[in-house]
Amino acid sequence: MYQSLLSFKRQMRKHRKTYRRFLNSLKRKKIRIQPAESAMLNKEAFEKIDCQQCANCCKRMTPVYTFPEISRLADHLGITDLEYSDKYLGKTSNGDIINRKQPCHFLDKNNRCTVYEIRPKSCRGFPYTHQKDFNRRLNTHLQNLDYCPITFHVVQKMQENLAAKAERAS
Ligand code: SF4
Ligand code: SF4
Repeated sequence: MYQSLLSFKRQMRKHRKTYRRFLNSLKRKKIRIQPAESAMLNKEAFEKIDCQQCANCCKRMTPVYTFPEISRLADHLGITDLEYSDKYLGKTSNGDIINRKQPCHFLDKNNRCTVYEIRPKSCRGFPYTHQKDFNRRLNTHLQNLDYCPITFHVVQKMQENLAAKAERAS
């Protein structure tokens, strides 16, 4: 397993094509990952990888905000929604409201989220590998593969399991 974020990045660069191809093949061949398998691999990944050591999602990615979340966070900082938006937020071409800069302004120097209890829903759900229907978010997993060691681990093991199954069946 990855001793550090650096070793994850090395692994990711080496294998990303293989796992991207694998995720795309799930889509193309309509192969469904069983909830029990994704739950087991997700549990294993969270046992092996310490999110606080990593924090790569908070450093390199951004939450997508809803308006109530902006209000809640602005209140927390004692500023107006507009001040919060002006200072921290931007918009994607499809209208999603996101952080203007990375790392996230709420990440402290110890990799802790300083608004953990009131963080946006998209942070709470990340990296979505634990959701029952793994296939529903294949595009998200494709994107997260480059940043998230948990996603990488889950996808790597899925690929190995399916390859072993195909081998046994042949
Ligand atoms: S709000 Fe917290 S969990 Fe979400 S990106 Fe920022 S630091 Fe990370
Ligand atoms: S969810 Fe993924 S990217 Fe975020 S801290 Fe955990 S392992 Fe790192």
